[in-house]
Amino acid sequence: MSTGLVAGKLALVTGAGSGLGRAACQVLSREGATVIAADKNYASAVETIKKHTALASGSNGAEHSAVELDVSDSGAVQKLVQTTLQQYKSPPTIVINSAGITRDNWLLKMSEEDYSVVQNVNLKGTFLVMQAFAKAMTEASLPGSIVNISSIVGKYGNIGQTNYAGSKAGVVAMSQSAAKELGKFNIRVNAILPGFIDTPIIQTVPEKVLQGMLKMVPLGRLGKPSEVAELIAFLSSDKSSFITGASIDITGGF
Ligand code: NAP
Repeated sequence: MSTGLVAGKLALVTGAGSGLGRAACQVLSREGATVIAADKNYASAVETIKKHTALASGSNGAEHSAVELDVSDSGAVQKLVQTTLQQYKSPPTIVINSAGITRDNWLLKMSEEDYSVVQNVNLKGTFLVMQAFAKAMTEASLPGSIVNISSIVGKYGNIGQTNYAGSKAGVVAMSQSAAKELGKFNIRVNAILPGFIDTPIIQTVPEKVLQGMLKMVPLGRLGKPSEVAELIAFLSSDKSSFITGASIDITGGF
């Protein structure tokens, strides 16, 4: 019998093929959860399950799985609810919204398309997944925990990221509102606000800008995906049973 933080629970992680989503799969599986790794890029989700989960299955013996999912496609999200219910006979009670993109540019140069695609994935995608899976949890009368990945940029803004910062501020407000509505079902909703974490998403940030940013980080380094994943696992677990509607910075002090 596993004594992991989330032993026996079923967890859905979006954006699971890379970075923070992949690290969340690693830590949640280490802590005994069965993981459904969902990503727009199916091959990378499969790689997460094959190479980056602690065990072949959750502590209750249910096998991890990989699925292709574009979080901005409401039909695909609805379909995933159905296939998950068919496969596991119950909905995930841990949902981690990590799918996210950037399309950086100066405000004065940003195209409407780059604005819209970022809102569609980061904000609408988080809404669609949260709505569909919270509904499934309420219908199954199960308590749960939803963790939405915002960004510290959603709090303080950042040059070149008006679209992204707006979407991430929206994720915080949306999480707080959902927490107020879902508390009566014992479904908790929290947002986390990472600073600069060493994943592929920051590879588009120019080195000079990154070094300037790091000067403002008291711990003087980038965060590791695993450090964020430990917070995700805590918020997913019953150890955080009285935390909901919170927005937690994880920035090295930035
Ligand atoms: P990442 O390494 O780029 O991972 C994001 C994953 O999401 C990728 O596998 C990506 O697939 C996938 N994805 C993109 N669009 C999707 C869609 N429509 N549906 C499903 N999956 C989609 O980035 P990360 O650093 O792990 O970022 C994870 C989350 O943390 C994001 O929400 C990001 O905004 C947030 N965050 C990151 C940092 C940081 O410094 N790393 C800081 C603050 C917040 P493709 O690669 O195929 O696009």
